[in-house]
Amino acid sequence: MKGIGVYIHIPFCRRKCPYCDFYSVGYSDEKADRYTEKVCSAVRYFSESIGRNADTLYFGGGTPGIMGAERLCRMVGEVRENFGFSENVEITVEVNPEKEDIDFEKMRKNGINRISIGLQSADDRELKILGRLHNVRQAEQCIERAKNAGFENISLDLMTATPLQTMESLERSIEFCAEKEVQHISAYILKIEQGTPYYPMRENLGICGEEEQAEMYLLTVEKLKEYGYGQYEISNFCRRGFESRHNLKYWHDEEYIGIGVSAHSFVNGERFYFARSFEDFYDLKTVSDGTGGSEEEFIMLALRLSEGLQEKRFQERFGKSIPEIYRKNAVRFAKHGFLAIDSDGIRLTPKGFLLSNYIISEILG
Ligand code: SF4
Repeated sequence: MKGIGVYIHIPFCRRKCPYCDFYSVGYSDEKADRYTEKVCSAVRYFSESIGRNADTLYFGGGTPGIMGAERLCRMVGEVRENFGFSENVEITVEVNPEKEDIDFEKMRKNGINRISIGLQSADDRELKILGRLHNVRQAEQCIERAKNAGFENISLDLMTATPLQTMESLERSIEFCAEKEVQHISAYILKIEQGTPYYPMRENLGICGEEEQAEMYLLTVEKLKEYGYGQYEISNFCRRGFESRHNLKYWHDEEYIGIGVSAHSFVNGERFYFARSFEDFYDLKTVSDGTGGSEEEFIMLALRLSEGLQEKRFQERFGKSIPEIYRKNAVRFAKHGFLAIDSDGIRLTPKGFLLSNYIISEILG
């Protein structure tokens, strides 16, 4: 039986970034200890009902690194013991560079083999206005320490269209990532969420206009390609063979179990999630989010990938060809270079990715 992805959400941050809407609260050792215990018991509970090995494990947040190696390894051990790991399991932990003392050696020894570092920018002024707690020097040290501990699969997060960012400073941030010779880069366009401190000020933060944001996106794709990072999803780039296997599960519409406050799951065809409430998570009280895995959902997710909606994958999943109507709906976008259609399937181009929400909804009709 195919393995399942396990996602563990760590809802703690040292300080809330003023643009961020992810669920997280302030950290304390007591809260972290209690949360670790609850995650471990949820792992035991779900592993029994799911009965499949984990082939990916991903600690996202929040700031997972804040938990420290000891607690993270405890949770890894619990998943290993209860779900069991497939051979070549991918185990990722997101870390922020501000903490000096995270024990990468211990993490590596305990099977964690992928580190995702929240760099965001290689410009101290930009980091400051984003409200980040680290500077570029700390990010460099964090990357070095992870490498020295033996990590050979490191990802950096970059943000584009941030306050004060220019094409030149973005280019320097991209160059920084390439110089560090990491294997994977995620580059997201900053979205200031409603209800955050930056939302009412968003017009006055020195963020460039929509046209320049689009240029920044295309520059990112082009520059990363020059440096040897192929685009495999709207916002994700890597050296060959270093795609995030956990995140590919989402885009391939495969199943995963999400453990922790606000974590989402897709198991046995059902989608459900934990609300933004510690109590509900501690009581293992989930909220149903309907069924998953429909043709439309599969198409919508596949079109986020550079490989696109592939005839072969669609056949394997649904036992039939991609319905002609979708190809027909896509034709007018192909004429303008937003996507390519051939016998292998339908693929958006980087220019098409910029309008992906609109194009995908038009294809689905
Ligand atoms: S951006 Fe990351 S570090 Fe900042 S508050 Fe959100 S989850 Fe925490």
